[in-house]
Amino acid sequence: MRVLVAGAGISGLAAARGLAAAGHEVTVLEQAEGPRLGGGAITLWPNGTAVLADLGVDLEDMGQRLATMRLRTAGDRRVVECDLDVLARRFGAAARVVPRGSLITRLLGGLPEGSVRFGVRIEGLRADGDGVLAVTGDGREFHGDFLVGADGVHSRVRALVLEERPAALTGAAIWQGLTPAPFELGQVTTLMIGRQGDAGYMGAGDGLMQWFFEFRWSPADPPPRRPVEMLRRRFAGWAEPVPRILASLSDGDAQFFRHTRHRVPRRWGDGRCVLLGDAAHGMPPVGAQGTNQGLEDVAALLDCLATTPPGTVVTAYSARRRRQAERASAFAANALRVSGPLTLMQSEGPMRLMSVVPPRLATQGFGGLLRTLSGRI
Ligand SMILES: Cc1cc2nc3c(=O)[nH]c(=O)nc-3n(C[C@H](O)[C@H](O)[C@H](O)COP(=O)(O)OP(=O)(O)OC[C@H]3O[C@@H](n4cnc5c(N)ncnc54)[C@H](O)[C@@H]3O)c2cc1C
Repeated sequence: MRVLVAGAGISGLAAARGLAAAGHEVTVLEQAEGPRLGGGAITLWPNGTAVLADLGVDLEDMGQRLATMRLRTAGDRRVVECDLDVLARRFGAAARVVPRGSLITRLLGGLPEGSVRFGVRIEGLRADGDGVLAVTGDGREFHGDFLVGADGVHSRVRALVLEERPAALTGAAIWQGLTPAPFELGQVTTLMIGRQGDAGYMGAGDGLMQWFFEFRWSPADPPPRRPVEMLRRRFAGWAEPVPRILASLSDGDAQFFRHTRHRVPRRWGDGRCVLLGDAAHGMPPVGAQGTNQGLEDVAALLDCLATTPPGTVVTAYSARRRRQAERASAFAANALRVSGPLTLMQSEGPMRLMSVVPPRLATQGFGGLLRTLSGRI
């Protein structure tokens, strides 16, 4: 089949890898003029790394493998700790923090020469015999027997196929960056939670640290001219290493993202077009499942294309993915309340009550959660 993929993000490129390996002729259409390599590092849980391994994408030399996930209070008291090595053994795949740019570069490297067309923004879609025609603003046309809309949370394909409104703002936002680590981070990812919001930090390989600060935000809030100063004020009084991390940053290091969330649709496409990744289920990054769910989509779509007649792929694929993506999105929206009355639960005392959960149980619970979000592990 000739397959068009809209978008050369991680989901689109991973889908293209799998489609090419399955013998399809793939063309990826990407609006940017070249690969988009920025955006810091992401956490891939065992469900995501398992799919990448199935696609033949080796991550061993990329980023940082994780052995421990820690949840701490703003005063740096232990709340919960999970042993990710135990889960790596159980699932046959490890958790890793990888710079987006490194993963995009590796995915691109495994695609047939000339299969990614940069500077092509899809504006319209038309039926074309048994297939689909993707049309750009300047009148260029691309024919495919099938189209995968992996064009991100502001998806044009979603708007055209589902005629839906864009993803809604959730009232929270994040400042994040990937910068030289000011101390040894080991194989640990840490999330600290307090009434001002939450802060996370982890190694991303090559002496780099991925960090973030997340809190309540309204579109009416004026963007700070000096974000690091704002973060230092907001998170003043938090225990180490937060002051040390903040001392190591400058304004140019900090990137701002507003949290958005889609309704997860019942049908993930129509006819010969399907949605995949953030185009299907944009969700806040809390819990770090966005990319992982995109990779789950890739695995399910490849399987449906291989085992289902073309006319029923949308139905089979939607049924396979809808509930898991809904769960991941609900988890992301509910797990951490960085706004509203629940922030009271994020004070030092109530948070410390949770520390009665022993690491073995916490590990089991987190492994169980990952299983409910995955068709792969
Ligand atoms: C701050 C932050 C931290 C995150 N951390 C994590 C994490 O740790 N773990 C995790 O699993 N997830 C994380 N996520 C979520 C993750 O970033 C997304 O789920 C993931 O990047 C989605 O990938 P995608 O390929 O579906 O979309 P995108 O990465 O958005 O890629 C879409 C591509 O489509 C292109 N495009 C758009 N419109 C068109 C068009 N009309 N025509 C052609 N091309 C088009 C875009 O230029 C882009 O290249 C985080 C998100 C944020 C904001």
